[in-house]
Amino acid sequence: MIFTKSEAIHNEALKHIVGGVNSPSRSYKAVGGGAPIAIEKAEGAYLYDVDGNRYIDYLAAYGPIITGHAHPHVTKAIKRAAETGVLYGTATPHEVKFAKMLKEAIPSMDKVRFVNSGTEAVMSTIRVARAYTGRDKILKFAGCYHGHFDLVLVAAGSGPSQLGMPDSAGVTKSTAREVITVPFNHMEDFKKAMDTWGDEIAAVLVEPIVGNFGMVEPKPGFLEKVNEVAHNYGALVIYDEVITGFRFMYGGAQNLLGVTPDLTALGKIIGGGLPIGAYGGKQEIMEGVAPLGPAYQAGTMAGNPASMLSGIACLEVLQGKGVYEELDRLGMILEQGILLAAEKYGISITINRIKGALSIYFTKEKVTNYEQAEATDGKMFAVFFKQLLNEGINIAPSKFEAWFLTTAHTEEDVNYTISAVEKAFKNMK
Ligand code: PMP
Repeated sequence: MIFTKSEAIHNEALKHIVGGVNSPSRSYKAVGGGAPIAIEKAEGAYLYDVDGNRYIDYLAAYGPIITGHAHPHVTKAIKRAAETGVLYGTATPHEVKFAKMLKEAIPSMDKVRFVNSGTEAVMSTIRVARAYTGRDKILKFAGCYHGHFDLVLVAAGSGPSQLGMPDSAGVTKSTAREVITVPFNHMEDFKKAMDTWGDEIAAVLVEPIVGNFGMVEPKPGFLEKVNEVAHNYGALVIYDEVITGFRFMYGGAQNLLGVTPDLTALGKIIGGGLPIGAYGGKQEIMEGVAPLGPAYQAGTMAGNPASMLSGIACLEVLQGKGVYEELDRLGMILEQGILLAAEKYGISITINRIKGALSIYFTKEKVTNYEQAEATDGKMFAVFFKQLLNEGINIAPSKFEAWFLTTAHTEEDVNYTISAVEKAFKNMK
């Protein structure tokens, strides 16, 4: 494949945009460098770059594009928004309709608020939890990524770990002291931390199914125990469902797993590709938010009609019959095909898959926490990434990110992908 035009755009971008990218995870730094493919248009399961190359897309823009690119129903909603004015700064019927839809899907949220990103959603849940408990500290799990505000850039995963920056410069020591980080799926360490700091902790923040060091499920009973211990110490539990919300079923991972947090943060999928975040939770906690309560949180763009209409349309598509069963079915075919290919060419991999989301680790070992994910072979991953790109398969340029199937992927796409993976493994042998 030829990437001449993408390279030219990247060289120009480097002059004007810091690092040539608007989010560090888009850089190819973790896979040995090079120009990120510059995309001109996208439709369904495919991306088309400026050089005329077509890719089957499993990045799905890091998660939001679950109905495929430019889904007609979502596109119609966005067109309607463009034609009827994109921002009013007043109430709209759309935000009310959408809030009701979210509440019905995720019943632990009595009240919701819309914001503009996953970062804002998580940040707001923490402020509300601090306001409610009158405490300062939070506890989070190593390798979980919760956005780019100071408090959660303490030993964070995803982007930061991919660049080898466990802590970000610019985050103050006093902020870092407000955060306790323990390994995911490790009840002993969690309990120890709670025994030490439990009385000072406002909230335990967790991705109920991790999406930021690959897809990692909680061990049976782990989240139930987290709830129990946190509540015993008077701390709230916040689920960051920015990746998991509407990913595996119509609702959150909390619905799938049957565990209930006090507060939930959402983003990505619920915007249908437009900027969005939302948070919500128990009535008495959410009533602490302004204008009802003393915890301030606001936004000029919050609940903007374009994101509302796009999000409603996306969820309407996801309400379709058999949508999640099909994502699961294609996910299973992909998983099995890739495992067979790996076996054929003697490549050691582990796949973690939950329905239509999966991650491929270059290791023989199980991956249940960040340390194990970090220990997997990044060099092998980098070669794999470039091989797949050359075969017209686009995945995230990081061993920590997941592959996402969309409702636009077909069995034919998946079978082509398996043959591309087989070719890659053959070359890598
Ligand atoms: N939480 C999780 C679990 C995420 O994966 C992300 C983004 N990858 C965020 C929060 C931050 O969302 P955003 O990039 O929309 O600010």
